[in-house]
Amino acid sequence: MKKLITILFSFSTLLSVCANEMPIFNDGPYVTLTEDFYKLEWICKGKAKSLNVKQLKEPLIFSECGLQAKVFPQQLKPDLLKYQGNFKIAALSDVHGQYELMLDLLRNNQIINDNNKWRFSDGHLVITGDMFDRGDKVTEVAWFLYELERQALAAGGKVHLLLGNHEVMVMNGNLKYLHSKYQRSAALLSRPFADFFRENTVLGDWLRSKNIAVKINDSLFVHGGFHPGLASAKLNLSIINQIFKEYLVEDELESPRIGIARYLHESDGPIWYRGYLSEHSISEIEIDKLINHFEVKRIVVGHTSQTIIGTRYQGKVVAIDASIKKGRYGEVLFIQGSKIWRGSLSGEVMLLK
Ligand code: ZN
Repeated sequence: MKKLITILFSFSTLLSVCANEMPIFNDGPYVTLTEDFYKLEWICKGKAKSLNVKQLKEPLIFSECGLQAKVFPQQLKPDLLKYQGNFKIAALSDVHGQYELMLDLLRNNQIINDNNKWRFSDGHLVITGDMFDRGDKVTEVAWFLYELERQALAAGGKVHLLLGNHEVMVMNGNLKYLHSKYQRSAALLSRPFADFFRENTVLGDWLRSKNIAVKINDSLFVHGGFHPGLASAKLNLSIINQIFKEYLVEDELESPRIGIARYLHESDGPIWYRGYLSEHSISEIEIDKLINHFEVKRIVVGHTSQTIIGTRYQGKVVAIDASIKKGRYGEVLFIQGSKIWRGSLSGEVMLLK
């Protein structure tokens, strides 16, 4: 009897070791455009699958193995850098693959309905970067936002997805923070992971259409922040965004990033900067310089983890990375006219401190 128990125990240990090494999982789809067809690739129960679909006239609805995507035949026009209007603004940041938590947060704050569709009418939802890396539902987050932006437009609203350092890292093949699941997807599909987001892929082209910042009414949204040096150099939003995006993916450049392009992609650049929230934060005089330069009342940033959404510099900076990445809690910032407040995970309206 003892021997049988030992054998059974060893067998179950072996099974769990194998399961750890090769867990059954689903992922995708990753969609590549060729001259003649759309190539869809996905992982179903740990096995690679693919399908070629002729050029699309209608949106393609993909639903396999619990994976969902709606692929549209045409890209939307690129987003603008400035929007104005008397609509409600909601903003959240640093989702990092926490798909279910993001849905709960959006649903409880009445941005999406019980079927996870847009219900924010003419409101604008800003995601200030870093949906990629860390978590294991990054592809789900990407396809969800890709579709949500179409639903928002149809309702007269808008989704603004801004690039964060983790999107740019993955597009550049820096996979330091990638969940191991995605390394397995890439191995099973025999492609480097960054290949799924290169040019001529649906998600890659979509990401390439995104900006690093947006100014809505009197608020400026950006993932990390703007270094005061950019105000001293009198670089406007359009120039900063244009140079950043021209030098987005190193492998696609004819020559390496130099000068301002290099500066914008390094630690003082808008997707990496932490100067408003770090121990050695900049002075209020420098914040005022930025506020005056960009002609806004406040700069809203993600990137630097907080426990709740909070303000600095008398409200001139709002830090909205409420650590969704930990998978337990998150908050949404709301702005309407001169009113500004936080929405908790359960949808409570809370004072912004
Ligand atoms: Zn970040």
